[in-house]
Amino acid sequence: MGAAMSKRLKLLSAPEAEMEERSFPNPYPDWEPQDPSADAADQRNEPLDAEGKMSPVFQKKVQNKIKDLLQQMEEGLKTADPHDFSAYTGWTGIALLYLRLHRVSQEALHLQRALEYVKRATRVLNGRKVSFLCGDAGPLAVGAVVHHKLENQAESRDCLSRLLQLQHSVLSPDSDVPDELLYGRAGYLYALLYVSKELGAEAVDEATLSKVVTAIVESGKSFSAEQKKSERCPLLYQWHQKQYLGAAHGMAGIYYLLLQPAAKVHPDVLSELVRPSIDYIRRKRFRSGNFPSSLSNESDRLVHWCHGAPGVIHMLLMAHQVFKEDKYLKEATECAEVIWLRGLLRKGYGICHGTAGNAYAFLSLYKLTQEKKHLYRSCKFAEWCLAYGTHGCRIPDRPYSLFEGMAGTILYLSELADPQASCFPAFEL
Ligand SMILES: [Zn+2]
Repeated sequence: MGAAMSKRLKLLSAPEAEMEERSFPNPYPDWEPQDPSADAADQRNEPLDAEGKMSPVFQKKVQNKIKDLLQQMEEGLKTADPHDFSAYTGWTGIALLYLRLHRVSQEALHLQRALEYVKRATRVLNGRKVSFLCGDAGPLAVGAVVHHKLENQAESRDCLSRLLQLQHSVLSPDSDVPDELLYGRAGYLYALLYVSKELGAEAVDEATLSKVVTAIVESGKSFSAEQKKSERCPLLYQWHQKQYLGAAHGMAGIYYLLLQPAAKVHPDVLSELVRPSIDYIRRKRFRSGNFPSSLSNESDRLVHWCHGAPGVIHMLLMAHQVFKEDKYLKEATECAEVIWLRGLLRKGYGICHGTAGNAYAFLSLYKLTQEKKHLYRSCKFAEWCLAYGTHGCRIPDRPYSLFEGMAGTILYLSELADPQASCFPAFEL
């Protein structure tokens, strides 16, 4: 850091300095309402036209960038850790990227690539973790889906049955499996919901689904009772001795999964346990509209999918759909304001703690409200990602991976071809 810069930082109050370090100031003008009959030359909401449609020139730029980044990623993956099978940083994540590209392109080659990568993953499973993102459930679930699409029914069934066998360690009362999404039961629940969505609801029997949901609910109830919080937050969770709030390790991620209609959580559980717990989290919100990373953390610093508003927003949007109350949507919209201001991250362009992951918040809001402002903002964050590598961001440890690196950015860019079908991988359904 240069002398001039450090002098400037000293002049700022501490939180401002912190913000300045973690994100870039957003250089883009915000969306402005526009008269649809306005002159076509009025480009104030570029890349959206006066009718709110994405310009073909912008779409072409995105397509070209996807091709360019895919090439760089393939080259970079030649030196990636051969034993990392995970969806988070390993081979399964790359398979998920190609599955998504296949959905958009319908090119057989993309499905073939997905197969090659998921096979690499399933060959090196280690039986240590049960979640979709970091455990064996991810490769097995993705394997079941890829084989199903290729009509390799025997292989698909084999992956599915191995996935279902993992429930024994998920449900075992003396297991030390946590509840959060990244390593825990919510991550296993996601795997079950993902295969049900892709293969048909009959792929996972209701008894299994119900046992996993019950295990998550009971664990939250008992920890809440232990902490004497049953009144205020009836479902309380911790990970590594911290009561995290965000999507990756915390309560927002767990509640988000429990709110999924396909999880078939009993309406009484939703209204008496999940809803008051969500309301408890809402009260922990910072004045800025952002959320703390954990209940013990008072500083308004992180604006990532894993910690902060970009993860919590998905829970709020789901709560709005399930409980039909406007306060959830209102707060989700306020999350989007924070993300717009502080979401161009110095940590990079990835989806766990990078700009692309933050941009998914706008797409999710757009899907629900159809407001062009959110589509515009998601395009502007994509525009930032088109200049991949030019902002002097930190290089992640696994620079080509789905959750930390380039594969995640490519996946996000590919969503712009069909924003209504966009879906945060390993999280949204
Ligand atoms: Zn992260």
